[in-house]
Amino acid sequence: MGAAGNGELRVVMLGAPGCGKGTQAERLAAAYGIPAISTGEMLRAAVAAGSELGRKVQSVMAQGALVDDELMAEVVRERLAHGDAARGFLLDGYPRTAAQAGTLEEVIRDAGKSLDHVLYLDVPEDVLVERALGRGRADDTAAVVRERLRVYRDSTEPLVEHYRHRGLLRTVRGDQSVDAVAAELQRVIDGKGSGQAETVR
Ligand code: AMP
Repeated sequence: MGAAGNGELRVVMLGAPGCGKGTQAERLAAAYGIPAISTGEMLRAAVAAGSELGRKVQSVMAQGALVDDELMAEVVRERLAHGDAARGFLLDGYPRTAAQAGTLEEVIRDAGKSLDHVLYLDVPEDVLVERALGRGRADDTAAVVRERLRVYRDSTEPLVEHYRHRGLLRTVRGDQSVDAVAAELQRVIDGKGSGQAETVR
């Protein structure tokens, strides 16, 4: 299973909005029997439920901006403490900033565990825009899509280098069929492929 070889698997899915990391996280979750945890889904559920968290994040999300790091730290700490995440998880949409990466490292270290892989789905920008607009989610107007991509470039893309330095980055081309990407990700996790660790576009 994971690099640790103890049947546990802790993974961060990294990539731009629309790169397919949500779809792939769900597939990998089913294959490895660990939860796919999407912070975007959690926040959308909070908004739909009209909870206190939902009321706090609603307008920020509608603009395509990022919810603040402290609030996200609470959300993620609480979620990763659930029993279903004890043997591992696939995080989709977290971390998105350097501060969030620091929080995640802390949470995992406090549990006496370590991160196995950061799976980076690399997709050209024009494909991302096309996919995002085709997806038809309520917050996906053209202006919001562009804003989400800008925020990604500014705040989240630097995490690619952060994790490359830590030897955790595995790069897979995301502009292939869902099945091809899934197969490649599984090879990486199973230690039969390295991903293109040093691919630079
Ligand atoms: P996603 O479904 O991952 O694209 O997330 C949808 C929206 O939820 C984002 O555009 C942000 O407004 C918010 N969000 C989700 N995850 C995070 C995070 N880790 N940090 C800040 N905001 C987030």
